[in-house]
Amino acid sequence: MMRRVLMIAWALLGLLAPSVAGASEPMRALIVDGQNNHGNWPTTTKMMKSALEETGLFTVDVITHAPQGPDPNFHPEFARYAVVVSNFGHGAADWPEETRKAFEAYVAGGGGFVAVHAADNSFPSWPAYNEMIGLGGWGNRNERSGPYVYLDDAGRTVRDDSPGPGGNHGAQWSFPVIVRDSAHPITAGMPPVWLHVKDELYDKLRGPARNMQILATSRSDVTNRHEPMLIVVDHGKGRVFHTPMGHADESQECVGFITVFQRGAEWAATGKVTQKLPDDFPSADKTSSRPFAGR
Ligand SMILES: [Zn+2]
Repeated sequence: MMRRVLMIAWALLGLLAPSVAGASEPMRALIVDGQNNHGNWPTTTKMMKSALEETGLFTVDVITHAPQGPDPNFHPEFARYAVVVSNFGHGAADWPEETRKAFEAYVAGGGGFVAVHAADNSFPSWPAYNEMIGLGGWGNRNERSGPYVYLDDAGRTVRDDSPGPGGNHGAQWSFPVIVRDSAHPITAGMPPVWLHVKDELYDKLRGPARNMQILATSRSDVTNRHEPMLIVVDHGKGRVFHTPMGHADESQECVGFITVFQRGAEWAATGKVTQKLPDDFPSADKTSSRPFAGR
């Protein structure tokens, strides 16, 4: 009897072994790209791949969509990955229907997804995608896409259903990021305000904004609203991290950007963040950059 119990226990341990091993072996991450209105996307894919790998938490594959028009051969095996990062942008062609369905099933079933900058411009007419990112811009997004969502000067979340286009930005500048939830694993330990390197500050994003939390904001000098900069969304059993930051190479060299990207990816993959805040993290009045050498 005892032997049988031990054998069953041993068998159960065997079943658990992959997830136990996963704590020490790198997780698999996938970056998808190929169509982005930002011509620097091949470089930012390299930057994001490097940022993920330097955590020691991830091995990274990149799958690139055909450069123009629909790509019937774009069939990433999303289920093989702990997290998928989109470096698509404005005007990206719709993925094949079976690929969209596979991605929906992947995220709803517990997969992690990270949307960076113009990834929130993509796929305006894909309902599940808009649910995942919470807020988006351009691509004829308007009041039918969902409310504008931002914080007012008192820190209250405003959901504004007024008609108008979704997505806008002013001239690039170096702007402060205000942490709104310092208890979340992605923002834990950050100074309450940190200065981001020059970037586009997206404003007037709108979308379904369901099961969405805004972790940090920046005050737009266009709208005078506190626009969402770090967004998390629960989508089914999956977790989504979305940041509208990351326009230019220099924006992605910001240690603040690198840190939120690394932490956001880990959180999307596991629901936890094990990474400490780096010593060179920006402060309220001083930016911090790590020049990218891997171009
Ligand atoms: Zn941009």
